[in-house]
Amino acid sequence: MYELLRANAEPLSRILTVECGKPLSEAVGEINYSASYFKWFAEEGRRTYGDVIPPPISHRRVLVLKSPIGVCGIITPWNFPMAMIARKVAPALVTGCSMVIKPAHATPLSALALAQIAEEAGVPQGVLNVVTTLKYVKDVGNELCENKMIRKLSFTGSTNMGMHLSKLCASTLKRMSLELGGNAPFIVFDDADVDSAVEGAMVSKFRNSGQTCVCANRFYIHRKVYDEFLSKFTDKVKKLKIGHGFHKGVHIGPLITDDALSKVEAHVKDAVQQVIFSFVHLISSSSSSLGAEVVTGGKRANVEGFEKGAFYQPTILTKTSSFCLLSKEETFGPVAPIFQFDNDEEVLQLANDTDAGLASYFYTKNAKRLFNVAEKLEYGMVGINTGLISSEVAPFGGVKYSGTGREGSKYGIDDYLDIKYKIEISF
Ligand code: ADP
Repeated sequence: MYELLRANAEPLSRILTVECGKPLSEAVGEINYSASYFKWFAEEGRRTYGDVIPPPISHRRVLVLKSPIGVCGIITPWNFPMAMIARKVAPALVTGCSMVIKPAHATPLSALALAQIAEEAGVPQGVLNVVTTLKYVKDVGNELCENKMIRKLSFTGSTNMGMHLSKLCASTLKRMSLELGGNAPFIVFDDADVDSAVEGAMVSKFRNSGQTCVCANRFYIHRKVYDEFLSKFTDKVKKLKIGHGFHKGVHIGPLITDDALSKVEAHVKDAVQQVIFSFVHLISSSSSSLGAEVVTGGKRANVEGFEKGAFYQPTILTKTSSFCLLSKEETFGPVAPIFQFDNDEEVLQLANDTDAGLASYFYTKNAKRLFNVAEKLEYGMVGINTGLISSEVAPFGGVKYSGTGREGSKYGIDDYLDIKYKIEISF
């Protein structure tokens, strides 16, 4: 499957761009990233070792074996129509589980293409099944959660939906892997390499038009480097080209739906009109203005020839209140609210002040701070001096309301295995 995905990266990435809108270069990246999970898990499958445990009493042997958990239900979102499936399918296949995949109703085509690839690769019929639906999303979802034959549900999507599905799965006590929403802080300390922080901010914020669960959602910049960061970041953001994913040089495609566009608009409007200021902000702020200031962007974008497209301008906001929706919720759009901070304690408190706990990022050159901050951030993943954290070799996943379980790495394979222990008595 790895080889077939790589060999067909061009047509597969076109399908991907057509169905979710991301720029073609990002789509190619997603296909190669998806392929990497098949290669990595195919290798790791050789290492699903059992154990021989020394017995407490002589003449006994205690053996531990790993076996496939069984049929897996897989429900995936639209923001990575191929990769979110690949991350689940690869460990399921390699451990010997069959599966029923329900791709996002907005992006069913990559899932079907993957099923075709599986067939060509020789995966036996009936092992990898795809159910697409627009009309019966809820019914298919209920079946995957409540059918006794399915022993595990792996879901990537919103926290609310993850909680809902958890309740349904409780009726059959399924093992669950949940990759849910994030609200990633991106912190730049005063000793950071600002140019590299700006680079990291660009990839972390604007990939897939800001529609990834690990996208930086809140930027905390130390007062001493604030002006420099803001000016360099703004220069780069102003150069981003918005348009159709097939067009050359495009960095920002459309958002997935009109509803997604309305949500981003509502978040920006809420920030700009925010009048409830915290006392701390009011006292520490030199500005008398209430509400956020738009540095660049701030509105829908008009793209010639696509008047009805769900395009939003890459946006930077300053003087945003920590009470506004942008600070509290995942915006899932190309909007970067920038906050100022003065010390480590303050920024850690702000960064951790969320129910989400998926990705976080910070930039520093100070070794002591590097360990200290990484340990205190309440997140499943911490990117230090980088804006890109996802890889097949690393355990992707969150804490708190961002989910349970890990995808990728040796930890990811365990999610698809049951442990059976055998005790043997020899006479
Ligand atoms: P998003 O905001 O990314 O669309 P969702 O959590 O709504 O996040 O959707 C993620 C996945 O959950 C998609 O495959 C979607 O079709 C599916 N989904 C939506 N509603 C239900 C439901 N009631 N039961 C099961 N799956 C659902």
